[in-house]
Amino acid sequence: MKYISTRGKVPPIGFIDAILMGLADDGGLLVPERIPQVSADTLQKWQRLSYQELALEIFTLYVDQDIPRDELKQLVDDSYATFRHEDVTPVRRIRNDLHVLELFHGPTFAFKDVALQFLGNLYSYVSRKRNSIIHIVGATSGDTGASAIEGVRGKEGIKICILHPHGKVSRVQELQMTTVDDANVLNLAVEGTFDDCQRIIKELFADVDFKHQYHLRAINSINIARILAQTVYYFFAYFQLANHGHTGPANFSVPTGNFGDIFAGYLAKAMGLPVGKLILATNENNILAHFVNEGVYQPGEFKSTHSPSMDIQVASNFERYLYYLYGGDAAKVAALMDEFKAQGRVIVPADVLERVQETFAAYAVGNEECLNVIGDYYAKYDYLLDPHTACGVAASDRVAGDGEVTVALSTAHPAKFDESIRLREITQTYPREIQALFDKAQHQTVVGGTNEDVKSRLVAFF
Ligand SMILES: *Cc1c(COP(=O)(O)O)cnc(C)c1O
Repeated sequence: MKYISTRGKVPPIGFIDAILMGLADDGGLLVPERIPQVSADTLQKWQRLSYQELALEIFTLYVDQDIPRDELKQLVDDSYATFRHEDVTPVRRIRNDLHVLELFHGPTFAFKDVALQFLGNLYSYVSRKRNSIIHIVGATSGDTGASAIEGVRGKEGIKICILHPHGKVSRVQELQMTTVDDANVLNLAVEGTFDDCQRIIKELFADVDFKHQYHLRAINSINIARILAQTVYYFFAYFQLANHGHTGPANFSVPTGNFGDIFAGYLAKAMGLPVGKLILATNENNILAHFVNEGVYQPGEFKSTHSPSMDIQVASNFERYLYYLYGGDAAKVAALMDEFKAQGRVIVPADVLERVQETFAAYAVGNEECLNVIGDYYAKYDYLLDPHTACGVAASDRVAGDGEVTVALSTAHPAKFDESIRLREITQTYPREIQALFDKAQHQTVVGGTNEDVKSRLVAFF
């Protein structure tokens, strides 16, 4: 299996090189040269596999010869041994037509652990195998940073530096990142916003000499390993329903920011999983919902919401979908992205929009509506949704058809967003692991919001 760029200008490369490249060198995103097809027979064979066994089967299709199967198995087993639930991502029945896929049983209580535990181990493997130095730098609005740090803390051959906007992440998110005391972790709290952090990171990577001299590696959601790891739980969730007698397609409702998680669902469907509708849920940053409903992709004004991990205007994985929407026409994708750069928007014609709507339905959830759904589900079903998950559930309630069965992806534990939960006068008990964070010392360096401030800290750290 080889990987190629959505813009067509990168010669085909193997899995490990694709991981190391991150963003494709031609500015596009890496995709597998073909999508492996899973037959009905194989689906049936996979139905009783454990999460780890299933992950191994799916990864094998994509990793191919790049990692021997026994070593890949070890990577998978190590990555999911850190989860608190034996099923890794269990499914909870809320009603006959609504099930919640709990993706938050990893070390940082957010779904990003599913991919970043694996990517951390993968980086560590590559560092050993290829004797290469791995220096990860990334920006976070909260969940990615904690999860990435947890994925590589204490690992030999790897150092990680995460930038977060000082005082602008939730209390629990800040503690999860800054109470880590391993020597290979550096937290920089930037005086500024998440956009400032992201801009600094982009410019560091654009400085090719600096990037090579200091072996910078990316951890953001455009990394193809993250997408693959997330594909597994779509299969796993479907099989949980099937084991309880469900037949036929199931919808998946996905709270969306960078289009990474929902793209993994798209991939699962393209591989042959009987996915009904992919329900795309956004908060008030509704660019993607607008695209699915009107065919116009146009970032607008940034809004702060109760679901900050979805407060995103430019969805970095969207280009991957465009590539498949246009039948793998890389020249067309390159032209569309040029148009996007010049005019700040992409518009698709009616026949293309029709194809989008055959796969996706979408709904944008307002701030009040999000809190109402949290309150309603708590009162009615005694189940506490975090604000991101609540967006997915709200969207499912709006757009799923009668008689359809929907799996709503739960992307975070409510304890991470207590500030919002409390607005509905709901008191929750923190899980033991989160409560323990409040007694730990914090390690972070506050820096100004310029490239030079960050660069000098990095040079000293590496
Ligand atoms: C990152 C994140 C999302 C959005 O996922 P994408 O892959 O960016 O679409 C949703 N919910 C939570 C809790 C997250 O951390």
